Amino acid sequence: MKKGRYPVYVKFPGKLLIVGFGSIGQGVLPLILRHIGIDRKNISIITADNSGKAIAKKEGIPFKIEPLLQDNYQTVLDRHIGKGDFLLNLSVDVSSVDLMAYCKEKDILYLDTVVEPWLGGYTDPKLSITDRSNYGLRETLLAAKRKFGKGPTAVSTHGANPGIVSHFLKRALIQIAKDTKFKHKKPVSREDWAKLMKDLGVKAVHVAEYDSQKSNKPKKIGQFENTWSVPGFHSEGILQPSEMGWGTHEKHFPKNGHRHKGGCDASIYLDQPGARTLVRTWTPEHGHFLGRAVTHNESVSIADYYTVKKGKKAVYRPTVHYAYRCCDVAILSIEECFGRNSVLQNEWRILMDDIVSGMDELGVLLMGHKKNAYWYGSQLTMEETRGLAPYQNATGLQVTVGVLGGMIWAIENPREGIVEADEMDYERVMEIIEPYLGTMKGAYTDWTPLEGRTSTFEQDVDKSDPWQFKNILFS
Ligand code: NAD
Repeated sequence: MKKGRYPVYVKFPGKLLIVGFGSIGQGVLPLILRHIGIDRKNISIITADNSGKAIAKKEGIPFKIEPLLQDNYQTVLDRHIGKGDFLLNLSVDVSSVDLMAYCKEKDILYLDTVVEPWLGGYTDPKLSITDRSNYGLRETLLAAKRKFGKGPTAVSTHGANPGIVSHFLKRALIQIAKDTKFKHKKPVSREDWAKLMKDLGVKAVHVAEYDSQKSNKPKKIGQFENTWSVPGFHSEGILQPSEMGWGTHEKHFPKNGHRHKGGCDASIYLDQPGARTLVRTWTPEHGHFLGRAVTHNESVSIADYYTVKKGKKAVYRPTVHYAYRCCDVAILSIEECFGRNSVLQNEWRILMDDIVSGMDELGVLLMGHKKNAYWYGSQLTMEETRGLAPYQNATGLQVTVGVLGGMIWAIENPREGIVEADEMDYERVMEIIEPYLGTMKGAYTDWTPLEGRTSTFEQDVDKSDPWQFKNILFS
């Protein structure tokens, strides 16, 4: 894709309202202007603080501080959008499902990158752990999906992860089938994809990410620093429980693990936050390392999508979770936050122009099949990012192209109702996002979580099957 000669994939005659203009909103704006045929005059931004105000001004987009709250959101939204428009929700503390219900009623297209509750939804002591978990939040989404049926398309959680990793996963499955000479028909339905994963023998899937981006400024004491939303990471990593899609091959149940009552039953949670749930994982650039099983919507949605049932009983499901090695300063920030009894630091910083090196390596690691393990994903450096798009770091670009691809898919498929990434046309989205993802790498490895496990301490491992969660969990 040559600079200045960007393909316009689709035209959109309606208005676009961007809610929230933090790191993701700022990064996606130029991509929308490049690839969606929309009149700049039809775009506006409402948000809760001044971040991104200068960028909005530079791009000539109206910017208003007008936070959405549970008791004002309908009135505020009515002032900005109506039938045939698009609501792009890139905020924190605003209920995704309430906004989707609003969009259904008013016939407005919608996309978000997380199933978010209203402010306090992660901490309210009256709520159960299930209510505060991504499992519970997704169940509220599924209830709305069932209730609304077909109607204006509302794309749920389509950033990087959750989001485009679901498309990476489908590509990876097709590749493994090819490399193991497994004959299959072209998967079309959910059942076809689940059967393919089962037949290939995949036992576990990690969203394995290593963020090695580094700033030229050392972390300041008392400041939470990260490469994307600070409150977003605090909520999912520290306030919510660690969650994992729970595979049918698992023989051991974690000591502090729990099943949820009701719902799809595809995942479990641990009585501890994901930011201190260390798990063994692998990427091509770094080999094996420790990531964190931070809760994410895709751990539940992918596990659910790839479940094979006989009657009501699940006979196949992979274990699925995030294994996130966040950037160095975020690790220090987490440690500092736990020391403050998990109270978020008052000062926040997102690394951006000060980044001097590093890459976000983000992909899916499929384990347990004939060729042991296969990682497929994006290796995107900060240097490449600077040449591709303004106002973002490598982490941000992987998310913002997901938002762009999801928006284009929604405009092209406007009557699908609520959809998750796993249900979308993965090749169409890949076509749009791939030019922005640096190197798309596929790599097999002989690594297992039992490799090199010598220790001066006794270890509780199950040698009969390396892919048991018990072997992956670092304890
Ligand atoms: P950020 O913290 O940089 O920005 C959040 C924005 O939301 C700010 O502009 C803030 O003013 C606005 N906001 C807060 N309360 C609001 C309210 N009541 N009404 C309207 N706006 C409000 O976050 P970010 O890094 O831009 O991330 C945005 C969202 O995307 C977060 O929910 C984050 O968790 C999510 N995210 C998803 C992925 C993914 O891959 N799926 C990756 C990164 C971020």
